[in-house]
Amino acid sequence: MIVRDILNESTKALEAAQIPSARLDAEVLLAFCLGCDRLEFLKNPERRLDPAQRAAFDKLISRRLRWEPVAYITGRKAFWTFTLEVSNDVLIPRPDTEVIVEEMLQIAKKSDAARIKILEIGTGSGAIAIAVASEIPHASITATDISFAALNVARRNAESLGLQNQIDFRQGDLFEPVEGVFDIIASNPPYIGAQEYQELSDGVRSFEPREALFAGESGLEFYEKLIYQAQCHLEKNGWLLLEIGARQEKDVCRIMEASGFYDHIEMRRDYAGLPRVIRARRKVSG
Ligand code: SAM
Ligand code: GLN
Repeated sequence: MIVRDILNESTKALEAAQIPSARLDAEVLLAFCLGCDRLEFLKNPERRLDPAQRAAFDKLISRRLRWEPVAYITGRKAFWTFTLEVSNDVLIPRPDTEVIVEEMLQIAKKSDAARIKILEIGTGSGAIAIAVASEIPHASITATDISFAALNVARRNAESLGLQNQIDFRQGDLFEPVEGVFDIIASNPPYIGAQEYQELSDGVRSFEPREALFAGESGLEFYEKLIYQAQCHLEKNGWLLLEIGARQEKDVCRIMEASGFYDHIEMRRDYAGLPRVIRARRKVSG
């Protein structure tokens, strides 16, 4: 069978299963299967697959038909300027999360510290810590996660990009494994409440780690803890940055204000125009 027919057939099967971006998924999986770039076979749609390639591709498509995310099938996901290894031990980094990286860079670039100290809580694949390390060579970064398995993925990602010396990975609950104070603390914590958890797509709910997503009944559990505990680990005038769900702006700002520890509480939208990051500065007197 030739590439054109295989792509048409698999796209139809994925569409019938209501998989969004069916055509793109079929192309990405075919490129992965053939170990080449998508453009290579798109330029040559008459290319013929041998039976072994065909069988391997059918296996990948059947996994996608059960809603397994493409990134788990291929084991990789593009983020920022690089590609990360991902497994089902880690959340697949979302494009929206690049917004918190941009905000961290903006703050870091204004700092005159010779060695800016940054902490990321809940690093997962390492996406945020690694992106910041790749942009700011003088940043010293600590990245934590409660999951050993996630940290192994994050460490491998840092190593494969040659950034392992800049990031100290530590396992533990929130601030428990860290000492000292930081100029920037950032987190994309779990923020899905009980109601939203039921509304997640099958691909997310059945395949991504529950402990990376679920944050108690309200979805706010981690914000309360991060906002109150971060102030003991922030330099005076240090910044706390939190990724939030699109409907959590008011609640998270309210918790920040009620704590009395922060000023300059500001929200940044993502490229879909939805509230995505709250940042706040630790008060000098707080
Ligand atoms: N930072 C990654 C990203 O943006 O793609 C992953 C974010 S994921 C939403 C949240 C991460 O927090 C998961 O890797 C999860 O294992 C971790 N986590 C959950 N509870 C935690 C806790 N109590 N302490 C530290 N990390 C925790
Ligand atoms: N943005 C993710 C989702 O909607 C949630 C990530 C998180 O809980 N931090 O699937």
